[in-house]
Amino acid sequence: MRRRVLACAALSALTLAAAPSVWAQAYPNKPVQLVVPFAPGGTTDIIARSIADPLARVLGQPVVVINRAGGGGSVGATETARATPDGYALGVGTVSTTASNPAINPRIAYNPTTDFTPIINIAATPNVIAVHPSFPAKDYKGFLAEIKKAPGRHSYASSGTGGIGHLQMELWKQLTGGFVTHIPYRGAGPALNDTVGGQVPIIFDNMPSALPFIRENRLVPIVVAAPQRIAALPNVPTFKEVGLEPVNRMAYYGILGPKGLPKEVVDRINAGVREVLRDPAVRKRIEDTGSIVLGGTPEQFAADIKAEFEVYRKVVNDAKLKLD
Ligand code: GLU
Repeated sequence: MRRRVLACAALSALTLAAAPSVWAQAYPNKPVQLVVPFAPGGTTDIIARSIADPLARVLGQPVVVINRAGGGGSVGATETARATPDGYALGVGTVSTTASNPAINPRIAYNPTTDFTPIINIAATPNVIAVHPSFPAKDYKGFLAEIKKAPGRHSYASSGTGGIGHLQMELWKQLTGGFVTHIPYRGAGPALNDTVGGQVPIIFDNMPSALPFIRENRLVPIVVAAPQRIAALPNVPTFKEVGLEPVNRMAYYGILGPKGLPKEVVDRINAGVREVLRDPAVRKRIEDTGSIVLGGTPEQFAADIKAEFEVYRKVVNDAKLKLD
């Protein structure tokens, strides 16, 4: 009897091994690469690294974070779009790579809504305009007055051309009539270095990367983009409060792969990241920055990308924004 059971088990194992869906269950059987399309030290890098190790434990394979900066995130995003759709080359899809940059830059080599397989949206993060402590203003009213007083005297750092920081700051300039010169970097990491170092007086950044410098008084927060004031910065108004609702949009960070990823792979990564996001320590790390943990289905992430791409297309068209 026992022998028969074993024989049956062996036979069904053989049959199962030949079936494609079961083969896919073996995924992943080697390290998974996760491309961060910006330099280290920015929010994309922070979010990727906060989930990479716990996700590796869930998947049973290393999740290797690789920074491929350049072109406002488009270099790394193009690499992900063109990768083999086998689940071993994934990338972080951000608001900049999937919405704002494709909306303003006609040279982007991928279509954000058709060239990727969205897997899971991880977090929505607030944005912030912050200044070096030597900047002559410490609050929004003073900031606006200073910019208006001296058009072109000040410049601002962003994580790259076409990124959310660039587009939202350009929108801010249009709505307020203020003028500051744009200085794009290969990510918020190097942009923050130069702002904290005093080379550039202003930065438009995502909150997770800027907040540690704000907490150490090395940057002064002026105004944030968030549904309401964030707990860590109770005295800093939102763009909505200062009458600039169109600039009051959050950023997002999720995982995607090239188009045509097998459903089994998508479901495995989606379930793995959801499990990671249930860990209170991971949630706390993300939420402490005023960010919102998202999770959700691949379909929801696809809908988020589509909606935000449309928002930025409209921003670019209505405000007639152009790359310099
Ligand atoms: N601002 C960029 C974005 O939202 C990310 C900045 C960075 O990670 O350096 O896509």
